[in-house]
Amino acid sequence: MADYRELWSKLGIDLEKHDKLCAVLPELYGGVYLTQKNRPEGMNYFNLVVAEVHGLRIQELDDYKAQGGKVVGTFCVFVPDEVILAAKAIGVGLCSGSQFWVEDGEKVLPRNLCPLIKALMGAKVGGTCPYFQSCDMLIGETTCDGKKKAWEILNDYVPVHVMELPQMKREKNCKAWEEEIKEFISKMEELTENKVTVESLRQGIKTANAKRRALKRLYNLRKYKPSPISGLDVLLISQIAFYDDPDRFVEKLNELCDELDERVKKGVDEGKKRIMITGTPMALPNWKLHSIIEGLNAQVVVEETCTGTRYFENEVCEEGETIDDLVKNLADRYMKINCACFTPNTGRIDDIIKYVDEYHVDGVIDFNLSFCHTYAVEHKDVEKVLKEKDIPLIQIETDYSTEDSGQIKTRVEAFLEMI
Ligand code: SF4
Ligand code: SF4
Repeated sequence: MADYRELWSKLGIDLEKHDKLCAVLPELYGGVYLTQKNRPEGMNYFNLVVAEVHGLRIQELDDYKAQGGKVVGTFCVFVPDEVILAAKAIGVGLCSGSQFWVEDGEKVLPRNLCPLIKALMGAKVGGTCPYFQSCDMLIGETTCDGKKKAWEILNDYVPVHVMELPQMKREKNCKAWEEEIKEFISKMEELTENKVTVESLRQGIKTANAKRRALKRLYNLRKYKPSPISGLDVLLISQIAFYDDPDRFVEKLNELCDELDERVKKGVDEGKKRIMITGTPMALPNWKLHSIIEGLNAQVVVEETCTGTRYFENEVCEEGETIDDLVKNLADRYMKINCACFTPNTGRIDDIIKYVDEYHVDGVIDFNLSFCHTYAVEHKDVEKVLKEKDIPLIQIETDYSTEDSGQIKTRVEAFLEMI
């Protein structure tokens, strides 16, 4: 990798601490990803993106900022990328998936909090994430209590705009979400000094839809027996989707899918158990559960999570004459995301059942990040309906540390034997 120390230093990175983070990632990636056999050629692009995660892409962001462009960071799939694109800003999903950041996060947050929130806080307060350091503004949301309160602390470090996400899906809530999107448009216009027009918003919608379509194509290929790509590789692609340049990402992903089309024709089913993961998001570089499952000769074929289907299902309608029309289209699509922060959230259960059929799933793992109460409570509903349908299920609650990996492996092993 080229030497980016000057750039990192300009961004205010704690170089000494950052060196430690840079030392961890290649080893982790090598062990989890590069040891996989018979990977598609098309994964080389995604290998490069990971190798350059704190290099090339950060350089691109810096170049954009040097021309007066703005960068905004997001944490949840409810924040509409389309608006960010329409205002000609670059949006980056801030990963927060590493144990490395948890320690710094715990200096300002209670220990008994979701690791995703502790990691995002630690990445900023410790000054070790060049993406955070590149952001002119962060976009938070009122999804869960932990995040909601974390924005107040983060706001001391970088401006945070918070979108108020309703927690029910009645007509008046959908209307309120439209208003929030409009306010977000104004906020982005103010930050970037670019007017969001009907045409720029429509173009933003088209770009985001193209990304959704490419991801959907990838997921559709996993429905074949055998799936032509590992769950680990798909997870990585989904994680990269949050921060890569959208047009380049779509081009590279479609190239990979062309290759997978060919693989499907030659595939021989080895009878690996097909697993669905449902639950909380797995942000980069959280590959823990996939790596355990696929290390046991089973295959993850679908993730009903925010780093899975919730990110790309349902396109936004591109038709409309006014900003109001397009905002309504955006609100309609985003309110179809089935997150446990909503009550009720029966749509998620319907999705799980649908995916069991579509992806020929043998067993479901309900993945819960520790202290995520909404998903933990919703487990009862998931359990009830899967039991009725006689579909095997286990719940795994864990964080980013590796301490419980052995124990999880034993549980998954027993689960695979049972199905
Ligand atoms: S689980 Fe809910 S709050 Fe978390 S990223 Fe997904 S939609 Fe947002
Ligand atoms: S996983 Fe749960 S607790 Fe953690 S940030 Fe998402 S909604 Fe909040």
